[in-house]
Amino acid sequence: MQQSGQSTAQKQEKNHSHHLHPFSDNGALKEEGARIIESAQGVYLYDSDGNQILDGMAGLWCVNIGYGRQELVEAACHQMKELPYYNTFFKTTHNPAIQLAEKLAEITPEHMNHVFFTGSGSECNDTVLRMVRHYWATKDQPAKQVIISRENAYHGSTVAGASLGGMKPMHKQGGLPIPGIVHIQQPYWFGEGGDLSPEAFGLKAAQALDEKILELGEDKVAAFIAEPIQGAGGVIVPPSTYWPEIKRILNKYDILLVVDEVICGFGRTGEWFGSDYYGLKPDLMPMAKGMSSGYLPIGGVMVSDRVASVVQAGGDFNHGFTYSGHPTAAAVALENIKILQNENIIEKAKTETGPYLQKRWAELADHPLVGETRGVGMVAALEITNNKEARTRFDDEGTAGTICRDFCFKNGLVMRAVGDTMIISPPLIISHAEIDELVTKAQKCLDLTMEYFK
Ligand code: PLP
Repeated sequence: MQQSGQSTAQKQEKNHSHHLHPFSDNGALKEEGARIIESAQGVYLYDSDGNQILDGMAGLWCVNIGYGRQELVEAACHQMKELPYYNTFFKTTHNPAIQLAEKLAEITPEHMNHVFFTGSGSECNDTVLRMVRHYWATKDQPAKQVIISRENAYHGSTVAGASLGGMKPMHKQGGLPIPGIVHIQQPYWFGEGGDLSPEAFGLKAAQALDEKILELGEDKVAAFIAEPIQGAGGVIVPPSTYWPEIKRILNKYDILLVVDEVICGFGRTGEWFGSDYYGLKPDLMPMAKGMSSGYLPIGGVMVSDRVASVVQAGGDFNHGFTYSGHPTAAAVALENIKILQNENIIEKAKTETGPYLQKRWAELADHPLVGETRGVGMVAALEITNNKEARTRFDDEGTAGTICRDFCFKNGLVMRAVGDTMIISPPLIISHAEIDELVTKAQKCLDLTMEYFK
């Protein structure tokens, strides 16, 4: 298909000449060429060759209301005419920031009534690092500096975000993590549970938090950060014993709980927030992605009354971003949340489409290549294995996942591979028929992957 008089190959050539991509082997792009997505509607993407592709990842876990909603276009257009930009530094605000902050206080857990706006999830976690240390310093406990996170966690790509994250390939580049951040075991039963039952392993993984606090000293530990369900790590749904034990441990100590809702927030689990799903009471809650369904970049750290009152009493907080509370992005986020509310999208994900997706997805567990399926609401994973009982991988771990993912692209489905874990996180508005299409295509691509290994 020709667009603007240029073929796909010509665009790829220009792209390679001038564009360095995030999380990509930029050298390999010369040979392979970038995929060029030109438009989207509902749950479907359309590429520069006219292929229709079911977006099983909602972009990067963010297009919760689906593509093509005119209301968001109009909200942006209206706000751009009125006030396209102004900042919120130096005690200034504007209508979209006021209205969005009020709306976020309404939909987040009851004890959270303030938001610190950012432009992204990574900026949220930079804010978290600075705010928790500022909190303890204001409370005359400046030694409480260390933040405990988990191996294989993803909390963003800025220096603080990637340090809080526990991804070894990210740490390798740029000398991370920065000091004052430590990592404990993740609750990944399929990969790390060994002979333990999932429940016993969940307890063990949670107790690593207790051990780490005792090792460091409670007076040194500022906060524990975790996603309710690890997304980019491979949709790691913790065993049922994990979060209750983490809550029990945190109750013993004076340590803040940071629940990273960048993926789980705004309906992904079938509840507004992952914290609602697991009954967590966060002190800070980073949010982004689904806040605007990705239509414009915006994020925010939701702050509990306990922390907000200290920040309010703590004098100048010397932190912020040019785009904190960007009016156009805030107006779009507000409209997105209205759509989620007015169309009961999250309620439907909880009671109709989520259960249907999980039921159909679980059928893939019968496939000879699948060692486990798991999921909650509108997010799910499956593990590719060469031995279901032993939970082992094909040689060259990660190759099978990449092969399966490439078959998916060729067959009109975006499914992501994290090593040999295949993951999905479709738009929340996906229909039953589209779920059927997703599962049928996933099944076909698993078959093709199996053929490949024969
Ligand atoms: N936190 C989590 C849990 C994420 O999944 C992500 C991104 O995927 C981030 C933070 C970083 O968000 P951003 O890419 O908007 O900086």
